[in-house]
Amino acid sequence: MEQIMSGIIQRDAHEREFHQALREVLDSVKPVIDRNPEYRKQAVLERIAEPERVVMFRVPWVDDQGQVRVNRGFRVEMSSVIGPYKGGLRFHPSVTLSIIKFLAFEQVFKNSLTTLAMGGGKGGSDFNPKGKSDGEVMRFCQSFMMELFRHIGPNTDVPAGDIGVGAREIGYLFGMYRKLRNEFTGVLTGKSLNWGGSLIRPEATGYGAVYFACEMLAVRGQTIEGTTCLVSGSGNVAQYAVEKILDLGGRVVTLSDSSGYIYDEEGIDAEKLAYVMHLKNVLRGRIHEYADKYPGAVYTETDPELDHNPLWAHRADCAFPCATQNEINEKDAANLIKGGVTLVCEGANMPSTPGAIDLYMEHGLMFGPGKAANAGGVAVSGLEMAQNSMRLHWPREEVDQRLRQIMKNIHKTCLDAAARYGKEEDYLDGANIAGFVKVVNAMLDQGVV
Ligand code: NDP
Repeated sequence: MEQIMSGIIQRDAHEREFHQALREVLDSVKPVIDRNPEYRKQAVLERIAEPERVVMFRVPWVDDQGQVRVNRGFRVEMSSVIGPYKGGLRFHPSVTLSIIKFLAFEQVFKNSLTTLAMGGGKGGSDFNPKGKSDGEVMRFCQSFMMELFRHIGPNTDVPAGDIGVGAREIGYLFGMYRKLRNEFTGVLTGKSLNWGGSLIRPEATGYGAVYFACEMLAVRGQTIEGTTCLVSGSGNVAQYAVEKILDLGGRVVTLSDSSGYIYDEEGIDAEKLAYVMHLKNVLRGRIHEYADKYPGAVYTETDPELDHNPLWAHRADCAFPCATQNEINEKDAANLIKGGVTLVCEGANMPSTPGAIDLYMEHGLMFGPGKAANAGGVAVSGLEMAQNSMRLHWPREEVDQRLRQIMKNIHKTCLDAAARYGKEEDYLDGANIAGFVKVVNAMLDQGVV
């Protein structure tokens, strides 16, 4: 395994995030490889670590001043052994091939855990939608799709949203795809309800993460009612995580964006959450405006010199990181533990660094890794695909019920897989092992291709 890892590091030395995600999975599946010598002979690790296809392309567009701008587009099609590639598009200036590869790699295991027939992929661009007009965002999305359309399709690769890609961007992308292909198909998920979207898709990732947390708590005879929760981010995942926590009687005291965070000792109630949704989704404002509107809240600006994020130092019972990768480092994890947190449930992808995860384990925290805990989003995307194929539209209660059941099943799958390898309540190893075994067995069934 060390040989495989060092070969990959040597070949793509700059892909730090991808190496981090790969290392985590390799560590978890070591006992599986030891028990199955066939896997080694079939080079399953080498095969699973190499994308089936990587597409990188130029995205030229014209800004409101008439200036031509150029961004870089990506689609990493990681694995299609259990279904068409499926995974979101991220538009953020920090996007690199390494980021998209790590996300695509994680997506393979996550999608496998949902039990739906979906392979793994991810894409995006270093385009920054923040501060751009609707016209600029539309022209960018159209140019992006002018290349992407030839690589995707309802039975080939079905993208969705992620950071910086919400309902507006999905609309512009879908419009251009429909024009280029002259067909109306479920090629993207996260669509608006009027033209093929599913109820509960916007809520699914946040709700799903909270359902997963409830399952973890239940194992220890606890509930989320009456707990105090720290939530980071203020986008799609964070907003609906807060909504569900409130629904179930929990209290949320923080939210953030990349500029800073707010701490509201009184708690973010339904009315304040409605304000955040309007602020972020309609006005496209910043979280510091929350503290102007609710003077009881304290806003703290991000300090790039600081080696930790003070958001994670507040007293609480549960933490839901819902912003971005590596947002909780070892120091933050130590602060969480000091502050009384006993459960960390990841709405974001890979928000905890390996050092932070080691600390959670050492201190016996309940830890829901992103690839299991945030799988609700892609699960409901899978349900959106099913509804599109059948040309049906399920009611809200039905989709929510299915989501809840899927999160319950994923939780049980992780617990059982971990227990088979003597790792009681280790959801990280459980998720990696269960996701891995299903995918590599499908690979072996389908031969060397
Ligand atoms: P949004 O774009 O809706 O929101 C992202 C939030 O995170 C914003 O508040 C944003 O602040 C903040 N953020 C982004 N980048 C950084 C950064 N570098 N540092 C600090 N804060 C940052 O995205 P989502 O809510 O959809 O996604 C959040 C996370 O959840 C991501 O890790 C994503 O991969 C993951 N996820 C999302 C799914 C979905 O269905 N949407 C499904 C599964 C996982 P700002 O506005 O300042 O950028």
